[in-house]
Amino acid sequence: MKPLFNRMALIGVGLIGSSIARAAREQGIVRSIVATARSGATRARIAELGLADQVVDTNAAAVDGADLVILCIPVGRCGEVAAEIAPRLAPGAIVTDVGSVKEAVVRDVAPHLPDTVHFVPGHPVAGTENSGPDAGFSELFIDRWTILTPPEGTDPGAVDRLAAFWSAIGANVETMSPEHHDLVLAVTSHLPHLIAYTIVGTAADLAQVTRSEVLKFSAGGFRDFTRIAASDPTMWRDIFLGNRDAVLEMLGTFGEDLAKMTRAIRRGDGDTLFELFTRTRAIRRGIVQIGQDSDTPDFGRPQKRLPPLPRPYMADGE
Ligand code: NAP
Repeated sequence: MKPLFNRMALIGVGLIGSSIARAAREQGIVRSIVATARSGATRARIAELGLADQVVDTNAAAVDGADLVILCIPVGRCGEVAAEIAPRLAPGAIVTDVGSVKEAVVRDVAPHLPDTVHFVPGHPVAGTENSGPDAGFSELFIDRWTILTPPEGTDPGAVDRLAAFWSAIGANVETMSPEHHDLVLAVTSHLPHLIAYTIVGTAADLAQVTRSEVLKFSAGGFRDFTRIAASDPTMWRDIFLGNRDAVLEMLGTFGEDLAKMTRAIRRGDGDTLFELFTRTRAIRRGIVQIGQDSDTPDFGRPQKRLPPLPRPYMADGE
C-alpha cells in the first residue's frame, strides 16, 4: 500500500503503541517510525524488537519532522507530554492519542498545541490485559472500532487522513464527541472493569472461603472476571480519575439495578430474574452475531481425554 505518512512518531510503545508499529509496518503505510518511552529499559527493548527505525531518548526529539504523532501513554501523562513536544511539532502534523478517556485528554492536551498542527484525539476499542512492547501484535485492531473525537473546527481533511490510517490497519472508524465517547465507554468498558476489580478483591478478602478454593473452583465464572481484573493498574487508575462523572453516573444506575435484583432474590421473585437473564442472553448473541466475539464454548478449557469408565458402569456388550 502507498504510505499515508512519511514519519510516524510513537510516544510510548506498550501494548497499543507496539501493535500500531507492527501493523503500520506490515501494511507499509508509514515510510519510517521513530519511537520513544520514558524508561531506558523500555527504549532498549523497543530497539531490540526492531519496532522502530529510530529510538530516541526524549519525547521532544521524537516529534522532529514527524507528520503523524501518536501518544500511546497513560491518559494521566498526556498533558505534560503535550507541553514537552509542542515546541518541536512540525507545521501540518496530525497529533493524536489512543487514550481510553477523551474529555480529559482534550482538556489537558489541546491548550499546549500550536495552531499549526491538527489535533484529532482517538481511541482504539481493542486491547488485552497485557502491557509493554512485547505484548503487542499486528492483528489487534482488525474488525475492532476506533473512535475519533475531533474537537469542533478540526480540519476534516486531517480527520479523514487519520481515519484512513486506522482503516489500513484493520479497524472500523466512527466519529463522535469526546463527551459522548466517555459516556458510552463508561458503560461498555469502565464499569465492567470496576465490577471485575471489585469482585476479585471481594473474593480475595473473604473469610469463609479459602484462597485455594477460590482458585480451584474459579471456572464457575470468577475466572472470566480475573482476566479483566489483571489489567494495568496505572492505566485503569487514570481512566477512573479521568472519566469520573460518566463512571459515577453509570454506577448510580447500576446500583439501582443491583438493588432490584437483590430485592427479587430476597422475595423469591423468579420472574424478574428470568426476564433479565433472557434479555441479557440476547445481548450476548447480538455481540457474537456482529463478529465482536466468537461463540466458542468455554474458552480456555484444556482439551483432555477422559479416562475410560470403570467396568461396572459400562453398558452391556462393550
Ligand atoms: P502500556 O503497555 O503500559 O504502555 C505504555 C507505554 O507508555 C510504555 O512504553 C511506557 O514506557 C510509556 N510511557 C509512560 N509514560 C510515559 C511518558 N511520560 N513519556 C513517554 N512514554 C511514557 O500501556 P497500553 O496498554 O499500551 O496503553 C496506552 C494507552 O492506550 C493508555 O492511554 C490506554 O488508556 C490506552 N488503551 C489501552 C488499551 C488496553 O487494552 N491496554 C486499549 C485501548 C486504549 P515506560 O514503561 O518506559 O514508562
